[in-house]
Amino acid sequence: MLFQCGANVRTIRGQRMIGPDDFITSTVWIKKENNYYLCLKNSIYPNGKTYRISYVKMDPIFFSLVKMGKIAFEFKKPREVFSIEFESKRLAYVFYRTMMDIIDGKNVIIDTNQNPDALHANNAAIDNFDLNATELKVVNSFDNRILNMKCLSTLVLEDCNSLVLPEEIGHLPIESLNISGSEMPTSQHAKDIYWNWISKPTISYTLRTLKMDSIGLTRLPFEILYLKFLQTLSINNNLLEYLPHFIGELTSLKHLFLADNMLVYIPHCLSFGTIAEMDIIHNCFHSTEPYDHLITYKENIKNPTDFKLLKHIAFFKLMGNFPKLKRQDIPRPLWEYFNYVGRCANCRRWTLPDYSRTTRIKFRPLIKKINMALHLYEEGPTWQLMYCTDKKDCDAHKKYIRVNC
Ligand SMILES: [Zn+2]
Repeated sequence: MLFQCGANVRTIRGQRMIGPDDFITSTVWIKKENNYYLCLKNSIYPNGKTYRISYVKMDPIFFSLVKMGKIAFEFKKPREVFSIEFESKRLAYVFYRTMMDIIDGKNVIIDTNQNPDALHANNAAIDNFDLNATELKVVNSFDNRILNMKCLSTLVLEDCNSLVLPEEIGHLPIESLNISGSEMPTSQHAKDIYWNWISKPTISYTLRTLKMDSIGLTRLPFEILYLKFLQTLSINNNLLEYLPHFIGELTSLKHLFLADNMLVYIPHCLSFGTIAEMDIIHNCFHSTEPYDHLITYKENIKNPTDFKLLKHIAFFKLMGNFPKLKRQDIPRPLWEYFNYVGRCANCRRWTLPDYSRTTRIKFRPLIKKINMALHLYEEGPTWQLMYCTDKKDCDAHKKYIRVNC
């Protein structure tokens, strides 16, 4: 593992940090001899400087910078603060996860070769547009020539600035798409059209792996619902406060990576079904002030009006028969309902918080491979369920389903 980055070393004396505060172009890597070591080489330390990783003083403040592409470690021996500034937030995250795994006592395998990601990040786009290629890795920006690669099955678009994926990319038979580290555009229009490629018949049929680590995602787009054959979804290191319950509709999903978000609950529908591997480490399951997006929605419900009721009916109809539509084809007031819709855990009908109550339970799911904080191992993470408020109607519907299906 080798990273090109900016580095700064300051000495701690008492409560003060002494030394220059500028970042110098450096090479940083992790090596394993009997222990794990963090190594640094730059113009100040031309012969290199080595820290034993077990001497890192665990201070959450030093790790909290990672979403800005920076990490700082305080070492007990020597008493120094070592700060690193990465060009790409994705690389900062890769580095941070490796360090955390080592500090947590996991057996991390260190690749002795140079990290190709680190090298590519410093190069311009790889100028290799063989139109018959099946794989392509591009760093920095999207190139419209990609749209002519009709055999493309693996596309990596890492660390692109304000990446906008043209809708036409959905016409390519892509099986694996990785946009990690490519921050989303900020303008409302660009955000609105960002996910239109997903609804195209070709890609919605072919896509098996979607990686979107470190892209600043605050909400999971409902267009993911079109990816019926998706097996791997990686959304590590984003800004997700909750996962919408519609994620349970992805019935082919086997590998789900949700580490380093701000999740307080996981939809209960994910605890059964096809998931074989899940990573939920570094979330907020033990938050003292848990944010429940469904309850917050319910608290804000003003007196329902006929108009609102009509919107709900239209929305349930849409969920029942989900046609391939672009976001713009659905009235904007309905968009937000995707964040709050879920199936009743009893009768399995679609419901909204207007017609349901929310409960939470803790348990360890029967998922073969699950990576979570050690303190969760006994009782497991918190799962969120929705139940119809009208219990009589709910039970009647359940009975009806049993008899007729
Ligand atoms: Zn129900």
